[in-house]
Amino acid sequence: MSLKFNYPFSLDNQSGPAYLRVAVPTPLVAGFSLRSGGKSRGAFTAANMSYSVGDDAGRVTENRHDLLQKVGGRQFTTILTCKQVHGNSCKVVTGQDIETPEQLAQIEADALLTAEPGVLLGIMTADCLPLIIADKKSRAVAVVHAGWRGLEMGVAAVAVAELKRIFSVPVTDLSVYAGPAIAACCFTVGIEVIERFHKLSELQGVSGWYRKSDSGFQLDLLAVQKAQLLAAGLAAADFHAVNVCTCCQDLCFSYRRDHAITGRQLAFVGIT
Ligand SMILES: [Zn+2]
Repeated sequence: MSLKFNYPFSLDNQSGPAYLRVAVPTPLVAGFSLRSGGKSRGAFTAANMSYSVGDDAGRVTENRHDLLQKVGGRQFTTILTCKQVHGNSCKVVTGQDIETPEQLAQIEADALLTAEPGVLLGIMTADCLPLIIADKKSRAVAVVHAGWRGLEMGVAAVAVAELKRIFSVPVTDLSVYAGPAIAACCFTVGIEVIERFHKLSELQGVSGWYRKSDSGFQLDLLAVQKAQLLAAGLAAADFHAVNVCTCCQDLCFSYRRDHAITGRQLAFVGIT
């Protein structure tokens, strides 16, 4: 496949874990890690970022460290992640969490928010849709894990509402960046999933979010996500998607393609 990406995404595949850099306003830093350039082996080759998929923990630590060196330099000391459960809970992360990242990793949430410099938020995926949400005025940022269950519960719209409620950042000041995820070409689901989505008010009048195929229905997670965010008040021009399918493009880990035994890529964002 071609390794060309359109603005605001650009590939960094210099030594260490490869990632798609997102052009966010200074002093923000954001990106989506990819599969190559890490130390993991076997099914986790090479840049697995998750401790909870059966990979050697030492190698995950090295991968995360090497990614931090590339993206954060001295600004960030650790990548802060949580226990993702396909829900819609948001967790506000502060500088105190840097002292106890293991505790945060046990907290169930599918969106992380922060307004504090030096806090690098991370969400891990391997087919689910990762989102980076950035305030154009750099007051706050968020990362979101949106698989189909999270989408049904509107996790990204909840995160947008929480950015307004907690940090007074209106949706009109946000930019949203959608990273690599399984696309409609590879995401076949049963009719029961389509029927559940049909009930979502934000999809009324939206066409093209699924299509019939020989083996079932192809669900377009990205189209559903975009419709939800536009219904929440985001301007279409502020929604940016990299349009990489994790399942049919091997620069990413894919849960479906790799039959559940695989690594995770990391979506990250922070304020320096
Ligand atoms: Zn595909």
